[in-house]
Amino acid sequence: MSSAETTLAADRVHAAGARLAVEAARFTGIGWMRGTSGNISEVVSRDPLRLAVTASGLDKGELLPTDVAVVGPRGEAVAVEGVLPLRPSAEAGLHARVAALTDADAVVHVHALNAVVAGHRWPGGVLLRDVETLKGIGRLAHDDEVTIPVIRNSQDMDELGDWFEAAYDPRTPAVIVADHGLYAWGTDLKHARHVTECVEWLLAYKLATA
Ligand SMILES: [Zn+2]
Repeated sequence: MSSAETTLAADRVHAAGARLAVEAARFTGIGWMRGTSGNISEVVSRDPLRLAVTASGLDKGELLPTDVAVVGPRGEAVAVEGVLPLRPSAEAGLHARVAALTDADAVVHVHALNAVVAGHRWPGGVLLRDVETLKGIGRLAHDDEVTIPVIRNSQDMDELGDWFEAAYDPRTPAVIVADHGLYAWGTDLKHARHVTECVEWLLAYKLATA
């Protein structure tokens, strides 16, 4: 870990932490962050890339604004003066990769059951079309063939990031990690939340009608 950064203010990180805590409590309430699973991040600096991400190993329904870690482009912990050096989730590496590749300023990762089941059933990608909720992820309600990519799971975030980069579609703000969960992203936390909710609904619909 390098010496503490002075360009990033602790207030900025803790304000992001407060927003992340609200989102995490909401997703926990829906049942998408069981145990200590899942994580949410917000970009707090673009150059250099820095993300505030929910700290590892905590109940996501009980987070405080200070239960946040700051990471760089490879998910490595970055020390910020006035911010407790909590351990970021290993998955923060993929959050950073998503933010770097897609220009998203918020990334959500949840172990939503429908995403895992759909990834198991359609390991080559989940095809969706002709349903109104596709508009909620920026696609068309009719005559628009949408594939939610499915990538293999890995504990190696560089490898997972490479698979993500190869598979993701810039028009579709979500990817399923097989046997694991869902990553979804947006221009801010509220947008990322809406995308997550709509994708999960679309996957439930697909499973129910296939
Ligand atoms: Zn996970």
